[in-house]
Amino acid sequence: MAICLEPAGTTQPAALSKEQLHRLEKAGYELVGPHRHSAVKVCHWCKKAILTGGSCYKNRFYGISSEQCVQFTPALPFCTQKCVFCWRDPASYSAQWTAGVDGAKDIAEGAIKAQLHNLNGFPGNSKVNMASWKRSQKPRHVAISLAGEPTLYPQLPELVKEFHRMGLTTFLASNGTRPEMVERLADERALPTQLYLSLAAFDQFSHERLLLPQEPDTWKKYEASLELMASLKGKARTVLRMTLMRNLNMTDAAIDGFTKLIEKAQPDYVEAKSYMHVGASYIILEKDEMPTQAQINDFSQKLAQETGYLVTDEHGPSAVTLLCRDEKAQRERMLKTG
Ligand code: SF4
Repeated sequence: MAICLEPAGTTQPAALSKEQLHRLEKAGYELVGPHRHSAVKVCHWCKKAILTGGSCYKNRFYGISSEQCVQFTPALPFCTQKCVFCWRDPASYSAQWTAGVDGAKDIAEGAIKAQLHNLNGFPGNSKVNMASWKRSQKPRHVAISLAGEPTLYPQLPELVKEFHRMGLTTFLASNGTRPEMVERLADERALPTQLYLSLAAFDQFSHERLLLPQEPDTWKKYEASLELMASLKGKARTVLRMTLMRNLNMTDAAIDGFTKLIEKAQPDYVEAKSYMHVGASYIILEKDEMPTQAQINDFSQKLAQETGYLVTDEHGPSAVTLLCRDEKAQRERMLKTG
């Protein structure tokens, strides 16, 4: 249970204990805002792009420049699930928002400031590609997916709009347990550039077993989010991102279940991605759960046969394959990010 600290100058609590904050800061998270429910972390691919060159699958699939991408969350200590494959620290997540709420404008500006602060020291490294570092000083994109469940942040529509006002594109990744927030994003004209829902369970039983929901009716809510996704056609780009585990959700029964869920959501894109044996999941799952790229490709082909989606691309270092709904989605997958 998190000890609630009182942030300086406010009367509302923060949700992380001193020890948790210390651990997160040591791991490279920079906390944003007085209530410390938001954070940025310079991702592996951003560092790599600046130091030795290279880029992540978001660059290959959609044209996002890795050195100009900010990894951010407004809900670091909160999630409605404790997924067995989560690489963060699900044991510390609370499903209830127990902190004070920082304003959307403040945390959007704070996130960019924190990213630039974290990149400050790079020019001291002789390996740095200065042209790439200079590009990193003008972030173009925010991935709202670093940790926790972002739809729990009550001011999410304002936050997305704020990033867009700042000239940034946004990817928002949700576990789908808050359809009412997806609805609000649509109603308040605050849809992200690309809306992601995660896809790891293929029926209610595997949902309970793999995602360990922390509140009732999450499967029903997830299905409602998939239906909402289908209604967003033409309003935002939509993606289902799969987390594939060799022995847990790559069976023939899983393909049947996934096919039904993909048909329900009709996303523009499906990313079939390997589970990564890192972080907290190390304790629960075996390394053997990580499929190879060849196994992911084989699985994607079977999924394509069932759904009619087109296997389009892959990024070996991230162990992921991209499927597109049709040729139009294939043609239009590259984003213009400034
Ligand atoms: S929904 Fe995401 S953040 Fe929450 S426990 Fe699962 S993987 Fe971790």
